[in-house]
Parts: sequence; structure tokens; C-alpha cells
Amino acid sequence: MKKRLATLPAFVLFSSLLFINIFANVAFAFPKNDLKPGGVAILPVANSAQREPKVFDENKNQVAVIHGKSNWLAIVGISLDARPGLHYISIRTANGKTRKKGFRVHQHKYRTQRLTIRNKNKVNPNKKSMKRILREMKLKKRLIKTYSNSEPSLSFIKPVAGRDSGRFGARRIFNKQKRKPHSGMDIASPAGRSIHAASRGKVLYTGNLFFTGKVVYIDHGEGLISLYAHMSKINVKKGQTIKQGQTIGRVGMTGRVTGPHLHWSVYLNGNAVDPALFLPGKLIK
Ligand SMILES: [Zn+2]
Repeated sequence: MKKRLATLPAFVLFSSLLFINIFANVAFAFPKNDLKPGGVAILPVANSAQREPKVFDENKNQVAVIHGKSNWLAIVGISLDARPGLHYISIRTANGKTRKKGFRVHQHKYRTQRLTIRNKNKVNPNKKSMKRILREMKLKKRLIKTYSNSEPSLSFIKPVAGRDSGRFGARRIFNKQKRKPHSGMDIASPAGRSIHAASRGKVLYTGNLFFTGKVVYIDHGEGLISLYAHMSKINVKKGQTIKQGQTIGRVGMTGRVTGPHLHWSVYLNGNAVDPALFLPGKLIK
């Protein structure tokens, strides 16, 4: 990983073919740097000879910091609600000094997706369901803001084979009514197919929730969390250590769905980010 990064400046000097090779290698080691709402900003925050700094986003959520070849790199999740323009992180060095570093988020137009849900209570929930939804919203907020100290592995694999049936960030209209943008990637797959952990980690939560159905949350470390939803079967338990690629459950259609698929979300510093940025390009489709 470090060697690949060291060769990065070489593309300026060598052929475009070499550039593609190097770029492909880097894409395996890190999420793609994409400064859009719902994207990821990879920012050098200190010389790697120095001690690891602590980094916080604008909402004071701690940001993952990875040891690169020549720099410590902050891996910042950008909120889908982020306005285009200048944003910043706060860097607190080991000797206690804090400084700000800016980065510019560009505009990105996500497409609109229209869906028809037969179970009307999943679109216009009744009073009893609303109580449950509010309770689960609080739980979800807490889960995606989890920060544990182990350094995450950022080379992800696609958790299940299948075509993309719902892109991240899509503005969604359920039964002609506007709802929140899509916070993950949908992968169409037959019910019962094995779902694999995208990266190593620890099971943070398992349960059956109103919208997302049977879910597994995995804590990969330093605020990097992944969510697998609408499962028919869960094979793991809270607190269990998970290897990359390990089967964690089966594809299903629990929760708010139009058919069997895996909904897969990735969170960084409490923000849902585009899971495609964590996959090598050729594996996205
Ligand atoms: Zn989805």
C-alpha cells in the first residue's frame, strides 16, 4: 500500500498507461477522493514522521486518520446535505495545537428514482409505526456515530454479486411522495444469496427495523461503519469479530422494499457516503 502511494507522482512523468495502472492500485487501497455531497475527501493532515493528529469535522465528529507513506491522511465523509463551497476540518496535533484546513465541495446532481410500495404503512406510517420509527431513528443516529480506536482497512469488496438497482444519493419519490435521498447502494440479488462483510470489523448491532428490516451494522474502526439491510437471515451476533468476506447473512426483502435486494450503506464520521467510492472501478457494476 505504501509503495503504491510512493509511485503516485510518477504518473506526471510517464505514459498514460502507467497512470491507469497506478490509479487502479491506489483505488484498491483507499476510497476515491470525490469532493461531492455524499463523497469522501482524502486530506493530508500532518507529516507521517510526526505523531498521529486527531481530526474533527464541522459537527465535531472525529474523522478517520490513516498512516500514508509521507503524510497522515484524514478520510472525511461529506454529508449528503453539505452545501457546495468551502468546508473545513479541525486538526489537533499531539502537542495540543489546533488548526483548520479547508476543502471545497463541488455541486453534484443526483438522479431521481420513483418507486411504488404496496405496503402503504411503509410510506405513510400510522401512529404506532411512527413511534417505532422515531425510536429507531435515535438508535441509528447513535450507531452511525460510533467511533472506536482500531485503524480500519479501506480496501472493500462488494458484499453480494448483482446489478445496481438503486444508486446512492438518488432523490426518492415513494408512491408519488418525496422522501429522503437514498443513503446507500441497492444491489438486486435473488433472495437467499450470501452477503459478505465488505471489510474486517466487529458487529455493532443486529436487529429488525421498520424501514431497513433485518440489519447488520459492522464497525470497521475510526468511525467507518457499514450497514447491510433487508436481510432474510442474520448469521452473526453483536460483538463478534468479522473477517473481510465472511458471510454475515442472506439477501431478503424485510422492511420497505419492492423486491429482494441488499441495501448497503457506508458511513464515515456519522455521514452516509457513496459505497461505490470504496470499490475498485471494475467491480462496481
Ligand atoms: Zn436502498
